[in-house]
Amino acid sequence: MTVENVPQRETHAFQAEINQLLSLVINSLYSHKEIFLRELVSNASDALDKLRFRAITEPELLADEPALELRLIPDEAKGTLTIEDTGIGMSHDELVKNLGTIAHSGSREFLETLAQKGQKDVQLIGQFGVGFYSAYLVADRVEVVSRAAGKDQAAWRWTSEAKGSFTVEPAERATRGTSITLHLKEDQKEFLGEWRLRSLITQYSDYVGHPIKLQVNKSTGTGDEAKTETSLEVVNKASALWQRSKSDITDEQYQEFYKHLTHDWEAPLAWTHFKADGNTQFTGLLFVPKQPPFDLDSQQQRGVRLFVKRVFIMDRCEELVPQWLRFVRGVIDSDDLPLNVSRELLQDSQVVRSIRKHLVKKSVDLLEKLAKDKPEDYLTFWKAFGTVLKEGLATEAEHKDKLGGLLRYESSREEGLTSLADYVGRMKEGQEAIYYVYGESRKAVADSPHLETLKQRGFEVLYMTDPVDEWAAQGLREFQGKPLVSALQADLKLQSTDEEKKAQEQHAEGLKTLTEKMKDVLQESVREVRVSDRLTDSPVCLVVPEGGSPAYLERLLQQRGRGAGMPRVKRILEVNPKHPVIEHLKAVHEKDPAASQVAEWIELLHDQALLTEGSTIADPNRFARRMTGLLTQVAALAATPAPATSSPTAG
Ligand code: ADP
Ligand code: MG
Repeated sequence: MTVENVPQRETHAFQAEINQLLSLVINSLYSHKEIFLRELVSNASDALDKLRFRAITEPELLADEPALELRLIPDEAKGTLTIEDTGIGMSHDELVKNLGTIAHSGSREFLETLAQKGQKDVQLIGQFGVGFYSAYLVADRVEVVSRAAGKDQAAWRWTSEAKGSFTVEPAERATRGTSITLHLKEDQKEFLGEWRLRSLITQYSDYVGHPIKLQVNKSTGTGDEAKTETSLEVVNKASALWQRSKSDITDEQYQEFYKHLTHDWEAPLAWTHFKADGNTQFTGLLFVPKQPPFDLDSQQQRGVRLFVKRVFIMDRCEELVPQWLRFVRGVIDSDDLPLNVSRELLQDSQVVRSIRKHLVKKSVDLLEKLAKDKPEDYLTFWKAFGTVLKEGLATEAEHKDKLGGLLRYESSREEGLTSLADYVGRMKEGQEAIYYVYGESRKAVADSPHLETLKQRGFEVLYMTDPVDEWAAQGLREFQGKPLVSALQADLKLQSTDEEKKAQEQHAEGLKTLTEKMKDVLQESVREVRVSDRLTDSPVCLVVPEGGSPAYLERLLQQRGRGAGMPRVKRILEVNPKHPVIEHLKAVHEKDPAASQVAEWIELLHDQALLTEGSTIADPNRFARRMTGLLTQVAALAATPAPATSSPTAG
């Protein structure tokens, strides 16, 4: 290579978002700055995992450097801490891409979280896929020298003081891997201390499956002979935590392992560690987090880490976890899958299916146990992930009985959340069904006219206010032999006595002319008008016929642009025969079947029913005009002096 074509130093600007992120990190007053070590060790460990995986098919990658390890090298004199690994390394382009741009939206989301919640959430940095930049919590200059694995790869140095740009230039590195040198800020020199580093590694990184070697100084000889020598000492256990026996692992170790795995800063709510040795042999360690990660909703984010015979295969193996358990984190280490397992193989593997089945069962068992032993913690879980879990009812019928036991709802009992089992335990004599009402919010459903008769009979009603609830309830159908019945449905499955039935028939007969008139006026909007047995205080309400969807669900689908293709099932208008408005309306109609107000009032009642179910009315202006007309009449009546008492006496 001649001098002319030696590539020179290049300067690159950071993406705007990274600049913002860096300035936040640099100026952070967050006190637990040691998290940088966890992040950098985790990156190094990932790089080693990736190399080991590639070496399965390309063993020559290991030729020049067989060791797979991490090294921590503090240098008092220079004030630097170097974190080195013999992993996959980065090429020139990878350095520029991985440490200068962000492929996903991580940094923006992270910045938003910081803006909302403040300093302490700096520790979440790793969760957002920008953990590398935590180096600037303790360093004002960072140098990365990296050489990608493989033949004829050159080494490159990436350097930045985090002031808007970084440089990349050729460098020397004898073998593959990455060295990250942190030029520690004046007040962060504590991270050079042997004991500080040792204890941080034990605390955060003990379970890293590769040896972490710390360079330590040893004095040898005495007097004139005294010398200091350096040596590398392994400071972690370097064995896969999940392969140790349960009795050798403390709760703290499980918790730290979880944090390492997820970059969560909070301990998990619960975990289960098991070995399956039936037809498929594997070890599993599963965790339930306390809080949802920022990207819980995105479809890709599910799965657990897959290892095959201790070798890391992939980070989020979706095939192992159904969508409705996408909050579960952890590790599966299979003894049966081949090391060179491909995506296609995963999708069509008996072994994978069997692991998945096991994993589902273990997860559900874990939740059941949590609900039983630590109800408070279970509620924390439910508030964070209940919505996700409920999807399982709609998509995977085989677990519905167990999932049914895990549901929690608010109810008309007004005492927090209840389980279905507790609800059933409180059911009144003569109550045959579990009643629920579905709508936008507790406020929107609690006073709904549909609940009137249920409340009057003392039947508890569950409030379902999560969009997924209607599907979930339809998936569940029944619990402990009791059908789930929506209070918005036409058939409430109320047991009526013979007298009640007879009275109902008489009411229907008596109101026939009026209900027919109503049907006539509202034929565009409702499929049927009939006398109700569910109303006590309200004159009318709209109910959903068999196979129809409640109004809230229709609105949701419309908002999501999915309502278009759906046939709109017209609802049924139910009329309260004992309500004074209905009685008077009937009288007016019978006196003069052609009276024009009757049609107006019927439409007004229908509009009212729409409003109480949270729907919008077709023509708000007309509604307002009718309302004004009515108020004018009533006000005029009220203002007119009653003739007998207040008229001036003549003469
Ligand atoms: P994440 O680890 O979540 O991807 P980071 O900000 O920690 O986010 O790292 C960004 C990327 O930089 C990594 O995905 C990886 O590609 C690369 N990287 C960081 N450290 C190393 C390393 N020691 N060896 C190889 N690649 C690395
Ligand atoms: Mg990382």
